[in-house]
Amino acid sequence: MSVLVINSGSSSLKYKLLEPASGQEYASGLVEKIGDTEGIITHIVDDNKTVLTFPIADHSQALEQALRLFDTHGPDLHAQGKQAIQAVGHRIVQGGMYFSEPTIIDDEVEQHIEELIPLAPLHNPAHLAGIRVARQLLPDIPHVAVFDTAFFHSLPKASYTYAIDRNIAAKYQIRRYGAHGTSHAYVSDKVARFLRNDQLKQIVLHIGNGASASAVINGKAVETSMGLTPLEGLVMGTRCGDIDPTVVFHLYREAGMSIDEIDDLFNRGSGLKALAGDNDMRAIKERMDHGDEIAHDAVDVYVHRIAIYIGSYTAIMGGLDTITFTAGIGENSDVVRSLVINKLAPFGVFLDEKKNKEPSKEARIISRDDSSVKVLVVPTNEELSIARQSIKAIN
Ligand code: ADP
Repeated sequence: MSVLVINSGSSSLKYKLLEPASGQEYASGLVEKIGDTEGIITHIVDDNKTVLTFPIADHSQALEQALRLFDTHGPDLHAQGKQAIQAVGHRIVQGGMYFSEPTIIDDEVEQHIEELIPLAPLHNPAHLAGIRVARQLLPDIPHVAVFDTAFFHSLPKASYTYAIDRNIAAKYQIRRYGAHGTSHAYVSDKVARFLRNDQLKQIVLHIGNGASASAVINGKAVETSMGLTPLEGLVMGTRCGDIDPTVVFHLYREAGMSIDEIDDLFNRGSGLKALAGDNDMRAIKERMDHGDEIAHDAVDVYVHRIAIYIGSYTAIMGGLDTITFTAGIGENSDVVRSLVINKLAPFGVFLDEKKNKEPSKEARIISRDDSSVKVLVVPTNEELSIARQSIKAIN
């Protein structure tokens, strides 16, 4: 039994064919530089890697070409019996008010995803293109939409409400939707299983290129740092996260920048890239090791913001049992983990530095036994979560 998971990003498309129960991967691939003069498709089956480069106009063509690679290089997407694909799971960034759980895709679902484009202008059009081609080329398999916002549908009103005119908010659907929900759901569930305790007050820090924090009580999300869009919250690779909205007015009025230019500045030209000149934490760390002050200052801002969220989430949950790091930086940067957790020493939270430094791909505890809060590293696996949710939706 297997599920094909499709994740169309703004300029790339990732896919994975995997077994939802065990997580075994049969094939994976990545289409990059969609819309550029030279696109790249990498298709991996077991240890065999096929790389093709040619212009790929859009996401429809990207998926069409990727599915063609399954025909020529396997595995067979049309296999019957034991090898048959049970579902195609599509990652969708924005489900708005329409979707609170994984949903089998029909024309009406497609239409809702289209209506939500203003709330996810970079992502939802790419998702739609992927859905349309996949439904056309794999018409006999159920297609399931798994929404990044779904885990945060349970947020309390006090969390999702922005303090602006109610009528304007309702008319334009302005509220906190959150994002990265699939990862926060997967990781918080994994923590509960790992500790054999589903009555936990958890903070999950998904810090990769995009970054978000969530507060989870007994498996339900009660707060998250991303808002109407994935721009709000933590400092990210190229996004600024929290900022006084007046900066927009100021740049518009005083610097003569257009709204689109400011949008681009905040989403693609800010964060670590703006502060350190680089959004790769490995390179930033290397520079810190050589005494680079700019790199140091950038990481200070980065860590400071995370600490603010840990403090406020502990306050709104009325306590804290676990802090879990995940995603590219969270899973790999012992330095960032250490800088964050060292700020919490006055509250009795302590890392075991030896455990923190040991590289591992497994879920693990990295705090000392006497720490008041357990600190963990849990590798996220959004594709596996999407595959499992897709199977749940069709049964
Ligand atoms: P995305 O949001 O694009 O899915 P990822 O979760 O893959 O991002 O995270 C990418 C980030 O992880 C980059 O900033 C990269 O520098 C960082 N990263 C990956 N490996 C390491 C490492 N060994 N040490 C520090 N940072 C790392």
